[in-house]
Amino acid sequence: MAATEPFATPISISSVIGVSAPPGAWPGLSEAARASGVALTSEQLDRFDRYRDLLRHWNTRFNLTAVVEPEAIERRLFLDAVRLLPALKRFAPFDLDGASRTPRLVDIGSGAGFPGLPIAICRPDLAVTLVEATAKKVAFLDAAAVELDLENTRAIHARAEELGHELAHRGSYDLATARAVASLPALLELSMPLLREGGIALFPKGLDLATELPAGQRAAPLVGSALIADDVLPGGETRLIVARKTSATSRRFPRRAGIPTRQPIGGLPSSARSDSGPGGGRR
Ligand code: SAH
Repeated sequence: MAATEPFATPISISSVIGVSAPPGAWPGLSEAARASGVALTSEQLDRFDRYRDLLRHWNTRFNLTAVVEPEAIERRLFLDAVRLLPALKRFAPFDLDGASRTPRLVDIGSGAGFPGLPIAICRPDLAVTLVEATAKKVAFLDAAAVELDLENTRAIHARAEELGHELAHRGSYDLATARAVASLPALLELSMPLLREGGIALFPKGLDLATELPAGQRAAPLVGSALIADDVLPGGETRLIVARKTSATSRRFPRRAGIPTRQPIGGLPSSARSDSGPGGGRR
């Protein structure tokens, strides 16, 4: 637990997530996932292979992601997302495995699909919505969902600031994720309007949150939420911040496009802003 004191309900999750494999040769996605407590089926592994090939193919046409080597894609993009699964299950507002209706997850600023698409591969029982502001990336996400036969996945070309005010989306998700998109105060403003009360947001971050975390704690109650967990995931490079929506979010939020990042709620000084994700913001 990196920052126990300010949390109302400090929870350490490293014990349930399991220990990571020792550094060294890449054991392959299957083995690495298993070492993080996630068993992937051969069908899922096959989809990850096809996803990796698609990423590499599209990357030759336009800049989808800076990560291009096959092993790096598996290690830094796929495994990073797969490692969120135990936390997703643990913090979900209800038992995901015994759900009476299809749980809905929204991935904000999905880019080339992270972490939403790997989550969709691993959890076909979730309805996954990928929200992405850049049209070309949405075209990729649409193509990937078709190529990988992911019937549970749809991509929406929109900014989260707009979606958060649409009837079909506001207050309608159980789970939210966002990786390498914005600082914690902005992420809270973008995600909380989309969640229903009790819903949970997972924000994988880099290790150094000295400024961002206190700012996130100031911001959380302003949009009807609380930070409920903070821990380092297996691999030691990603800190996972978990927020819960505790009450209705004011209709004022999210503010219009760009404002959540430029004028973060809770008053993060501009010099300390960060949109870094895991791995020091590389993506
Ligand atoms: N989550 C991905 C991509 C990170 S790059 C990953 O981890 O690899 C950030 C992405 O978020 C970009 O593709 C950008 O277009 C998108 N984005 C930024 N702000 C957004 C917003 N307000 N609404 C929707 N998408 C946004």
